[in-house]
Amino acid sequence: MDRIYLDHAATTPMRSEVQQALAEAVARTFGNASSVHSFGQEAKKLLEESRERAALRIGAAPDELVFTSGGTESDNLAIRGAAYALRDKGNHIVTTTIEHHAVLNCCKALEDEGFEVSYIPVDAECLVDPEAVAGAMRPETILVSVMMANNETGTVEPIAEIGDMARKAGVAFHTDAVQAVGKIPVDVEELGVDLLSVSGHKIYGPKGVGALYVRRGTPLRQLVYGGHHERSLRPGTENVAGIAAFAKAIELAVEELPEADANLRRLKETLAAGIIEKIPAVRRNGSRECSLPHILNTSFEGVEGESLLLNLDLMGIAVSTGSVCTSGATDPSHVLLAMCLASQLAQSSMRFSFGRDNTTAQVERLLEVLPEIVARLRELSAIKMNN
Ligand code: PLP
Repeated sequence: MDRIYLDHAATTPMRSEVQQALAEAVARTFGNASSVHSFGQEAKKLLEESRERAALRIGAAPDELVFTSGGTESDNLAIRGAAYALRDKGNHIVTTTIEHHAVLNCCKALEDEGFEVSYIPVDAECLVDPEAVAGAMRPETILVSVMMANNETGTVEPIAEIGDMARKAGVAFHTDAVQAVGKIPVDVEELGVDLLSVSGHKIYGPKGVGALYVRRGTPLRQLVYGGHHERSLRPGTENVAGIAAFAKAIELAVEELPEADANLRRLKETLAAGIIEKIPAVRRNGSRECSLPHILNTSFEGVEGESLLLNLDLMGIAVSTGSVCTSGATDPSHVLLAMCLASQLAQSSMRFSFGRDNTTAQVERLLEVLPEIVARLRELSAIKMNN
């Protein structure tokens, strides 16, 4: 059975060009980038070239990019690093209810340490209102953090407008662009951000490698102590091979973006139209107009999302739910609840996320099996309700 992977928002396979860049760097450039001898200097050269190439793809200067272990660490360094550095100026942070847990749990930890956090709600399409962000800012606000694109619904937020407001108010502005980079144009100048998180494994790059853009002059305190690597913001011997592979991945993703966008949107809309045509009582979640090209989130009324996921997995089709499994029970997605979806509808949601290797034939295959599985699960849940 040929398996079908429709979970690219969770992670992507490393593309062959990136595998090659990684293998070459592992084989040839093993030196410690801090060493003075030629082995070290070769590693340093590859590190700095990679920084230059990656920075260019988001409109940043090379010295504004700090390499990290991925999106989670970038979010931590941005939010906690800025909060600690700016503590003397104030203790208030503005974020939203739909952020990734890498952001939400940083904010929770900061609340335990005496910071105050305002969580801005979203509308039914998962959109953040820039005016609501502006309205939440106070004289003691030190940081605004709003994600560029939501990982569950694919909704793209009005970051440039929020950036403009934050700048006018003199407040540092962070965006988690982990799902956006390589999928939609990302330019730190156009967005007006001071801090921006990127992750390698969402763009066919390696896992455990990412970056944080730090605008020159943005106050930031390191979270890890050690040597002077990465301008002391992220001490530790650099993962040069992983970073070289990450640079290759971001380069290719941004280069191929226009073509990829058209292809991904075509696949997504074919699936959305097929679902609506073949299956009754479905609801598409998230903004249609402001959306990433590759994420489709749909609720199938009366169907347990987890059961649907497992049934599709048995057919060799990998998708995802937004639900979180905590202590044996399944909690509905915090993002869908924030959009005011009823809990049952949130628990019946599926995320289909496309990638560069998906085909129309795969969408057709999914549309062959999905209506039958949904009908069967609905029958089963009706029987359960009647017993
Ligand atoms: N932020 C968003 C929006 C994400 O989707 C993810 C990963 O799912 C992360 C942060 C965390 O990134 P990483 O897996 O590289 O730590």
